[in-house]
Amino acid sequence: MSKVIVSALYNSDVFKMACRQFDKAADAINLPEAIRDRTKYPRRCLSVALPIKRDDGSVTVFEGYRVQHNLSTGPAKGGIRFHQSVTIGEVAALAMWMSWKCSLVGLPYGGAKGGVIVNPGQLSAGELERLSRRYMQEMINFIGPHIDIPAPDVGTNETIMGWMMDTYSNHVGHNEPAVVTGKPLALGGSQGRREATGAGVAYLIKKYLEDMKIPIQKATVAIQGFGNVGSEAALALSNYGAKIIAISDYTTGIHDPKGIDVRKALDYVNYARVLKDYHLGEPITNEQLLELKCTVLVPAALERVITDKNAGKLKCRLLAEAANGPTTNAADRILDRREEIEIIPDVLCNAGGVVVSYFEWLQNLQNFYWSRDEVLAKLFTILDRAKDSVEFQKRKFKFSRRLAAQTLGIARVAEAKQSRGLFP
Ligand code: NAD
Repeated sequence: MSKVIVSALYNSDVFKMACRQFDKAADAINLPEAIRDRTKYPRRCLSVALPIKRDDGSVTVFEGYRVQHNLSTGPAKGGIRFHQSVTIGEVAALAMWMSWKCSLVGLPYGGAKGGVIVNPGQLSAGELERLSRRYMQEMINFIGPHIDIPAPDVGTNETIMGWMMDTYSNHVGHNEPAVVTGKPLALGGSQGRREATGAGVAYLIKKYLEDMKIPIQKATVAIQGFGNVGSEAALALSNYGAKIIAISDYTTGIHDPKGIDVRKALDYVNYARVLKDYHLGEPITNEQLLELKCTVLVPAALERVITDKNAGKLKCRLLAEAANGPTTNAADRILDRREEIEIIPDVLCNAGGVVVSYFEWLQNLQNFYWSRDEVLAKLFTILDRAKDSVEFQKRKFKFSRRLAAQTLGIARVAEAKQSRGLFP
C-alpha cells in the first residue's frame, strides 16, 4: 500500500480525495514506489496577492493561485476558477485531475489549475477586468504558450480570457493568442470551444446510452449547474432528442417532467444571470434534483456533491460527471455496489473542453484556422478513442470505469517521468 503523505500546503478534503484516488490507481497497476510520489504531488505553485481598485475608490486585496501538477508530458494546461470557496488544496486537486485527463485522451500537456478567492457576481465589470488583468500580470513569469496555458473554468469566461490574453500580449510586446484558450473568436478563439465541454459530455452520454440499449429519445436528463458546461450539455442533449426534466444553478432548481425548453431557460439566464424566479417548471432544491428519477444525471457544477449521504438514493441509470470531482470516494464505494448505475467518470466525461482547447492552441501556433465541423469531428474521434481505451482497460483488469480511466491517465504520466529520468 502506498503511504498517504498529507501535504501541509495543499491539505484539504478535495486534495486528500484526489490523493486517495491516485493511491488506489497506483496500487491497482503496481506502480513502482520510486515513481509514485513524483507522479502524485504537484510540481510547483504560485500564490499571489491581487490588490484591486474598487469603483468607490477603496482597494481590496484578493488571493490567487496557480498550481502546475506535471510538466513532464508538455506544457501545463488547465482552467482558472473565480469562486469564493477556492482553496489552494482544491486548485491542486483540480490540477492533478487535469494531468490524468490530458494523458488519458493523449494530449501533449501536463495538468495545471488556477483560482482566485472571489465571488465574481459581486464585482462590477470594471472591477472584474482589473482583477483578471492583475492575475495575469502576476502570472507572467509562470505561464506562457510553452509553459502553462490557462483556460476558463467556474466563474470565468471568454471575455476574461480575452483580457488575460491582451495583458500578456502587451507585456511581451507582440500578439500572443496561444497563451490562453477559450478566447473570443475575434482574438483567435476556436470555433466550437464554447460548446466543447458540454458537446463532449452529450456525445459520450449518447454513446453510453447506445451501449446500454437505451434510445436517447426515451431518456430523461437532470442537470445540476447551468453555466457553460451544464447549459451546453443540455442544448446538445435536447438536440439529440433527450428530454431535459431538471436544471439548476446556485440559486434554485427547476423541474418539469414534461420537458424544459432549454433555449428559453438559457435566454432567461442570459438576461437575469440566474435561474431564480424562472416561471416555467416547479422550483426544487439542488439536493432534490440529484435524487430525481431520471435516465441520466449530470452534475455540472462543483465537486463533492454526490456523497455517502445521497449515493444510495440516486435514481438514475447513467451518472455523467461533467463537473470535476463531483463524487466523493465514499459515495463511489456505494455506487460501485449499485450495478444498475453506469458512471462516465469526470476525466473522460468532461475531456471535450481541454481537447478543443488543445485545438485552439494548435490553431494559434500555426495561424491556421479550422471550421466548426472540423473541430467537432476531430473532437468526437478523440473521445471515441478514449472511450474505447477505457472500456478495454475496464474489461481487461475488471476495474470500475473510474479506475480504468484513472489508471490509464496515471500510467502514461508515470511512464513519461520514468523515461525522462531524474535530473540531475
Ligand atoms: P460556470 O461558472 O460556467 O457554471 C457553473 C454553474 O454551477 C453555474 O450555473 C452556477 O450557478 C452553478 N453552481 C455553482 N455553485 C453551485 C452550487 N453550490 N450548487 C448548484 N449549482 C452551483 O462553470 P463551468 O465552466 O460550467 O464549470 C462547471 C464544472 O465543469 C466545473 O466542475 C468545472 O471544473 C468543470 N469543467 C469545465 C470545463 C470548461 O470548459 N468550462 C471543462 C471541464 C470541466
